[in-house]
Amino acid sequence: MREFGLIEYLADTLGASRGALEGIGDDGAVLDVPADRQLVVSTDSLVEGVHFESGLDPVDIGYKALAVNLSDLAAMAAVPAWYFLNLTLPAIDQRWVEGFAKGLRKAAEGSGIRLAGGDTTSGPLSITITVCGLVKRGAALTRSGARPGDIVGISGPTGLAACALADLQQGRAPAADCLRALRRPQPRLGFGQALGELAHSGIDVSDGLLADLGHIARASSVGAEIELARLPSATGLGALPEQQRRDLQLGGGDDYELCFTALESSWPAIERAALETGCQAIRIGQVTTGEGVQVLLPDGGEYTPARRGYEHGGSDG
Ligand code: ADP
Ligand code: MG
Repeated sequence: MREFGLIEYLADTLGASRGALEGIGDDGAVLDVPADRQLVVSTDSLVEGVHFESGLDPVDIGYKALAVNLSDLAAMAAVPAWYFLNLTLPAIDQRWVEGFAKGLRKAAEGSGIRLAGGDTTSGPLSITITVCGLVKRGAALTRSGARPGDIVGISGPTGLAACALADLQQGRAPAADCLRALRRPQPRLGFGQALGELAHSGIDVSDGLLADLGHIARASSVGAEIELARLPSATGLGALPEQQRRDLQLGGGDDYELCFTALESSWPAIERAALETGCQAIRIGQVTTGEGVQVLLPDGGEYTPARRGYEHGGSDG
């Protein structure tokens, strides 16, 4: 498989209709955005040795590369439409490409997203995906809409992916649910779209719950409290010492659940939306007039977590 063969293969297996305006093969894609919609665009890169271990199954790499981008669309309440794939490959290895495309297909399944272009270069393995989604004009869910008195909710337990990663790095076999969270995170697209109508603010948990709720607090000029006793746990975290479990739930990144804030009166509708879209709506705290994120113990005292989230080089993960 040479470069042109590679592009043709990707276009055939993942693309919008080939040759059509929005398809692959011309100098650029021409995308139709309905007049009453806005385009939401987000991009994320995965670099071998930094974001995934070298030798990782290409199916897992492809899945994750697209899923984390779809999660950003979910957090913005956008409906996925197109994506662009910038691939840097050390060599064009047909088996690797087929596995990678299979992972992309799996992540795209049911989301409506189509490959509309990209670029291919040679060098150390790295993947950049840019996703485009559509929202009704003015209806994107942002980080800056939280209001004091809002409830803070989350779409599922956190800390699982980080737990699996630590296990793998230390040569232990991760629990099944933790490994699933790491390898097959589910972008909460349907729930995110529902939150667009029901919530004031939202973010996907990629850096860790505390860090990401902190982003909402800062962007909204509010504070937030997390009640430690309300944090959902999971089977795979059950056997851990309490302190370690709490620190994973609060600081572990990479789970791609949605964290959001909403009026208390919207909560019943939010719970229904979660049920209908295959996730959970778990109330974990509230928005305050203060600043920063406080973690409260059951007795009302403040809990000081060991680590607040995943950062490298001071930028986001
Ligand atoms: P140009 O030299 O004009 O930039 P390219 O040869 O880079 O054109 O790309 C030709 C076509 O193939 C374009 O439509 C581009 O979007 C598409 N393409 C190139 N690489 C990829 C890729 N990795 N994934 C999807 N489409 C790609
Ligand atoms: Mg090019």
